[in-house]
Amino acid sequence: MKKEETNTVIGFCPICDREMWKGSSVNKHHFLPKCKGGKDSEFVHRVCHTKIHSLFTESELAKEYNDPEKVVSHPEMQKFILWIKKKEPDFYDRTVKHNRKKK
Ligand SMILES: [Zn+2]
Ligand SMILES: [Zn+2]
Repeated sequence: MKKEETNTVIGFCPICDREMWKGSSVNKHHFLPKCKGGKDSEFVHRVCHTKIHSLFTESELAKEYNDPEKVVSHPEMQKFILWIKKKEPDFYDRTVKHNRKKK
């Protein structure tokens, strides 16, 4: 009976369509940059967010991938989604990007 087992669902990720739990496993991403008239940032999983930024440059995001539907249509993203679907909503793979120093 641990307290942390109560997870607050804040919505569904526009990338992988899994639940998003309140806490450090989610991030905010600007699908449409402010310079393009973008409004608010949207919640996505931290792991999905990392994937977005490792796959696309800022200008690609601004020009082409400024919509969740376009982001998920990318073949690399499709592969990632298939993989991430099997993970827990609060899953975050520290080895995905930060392989510098261990804490
Ligand atoms: Zn972002
Ligand atoms: Zn996600």
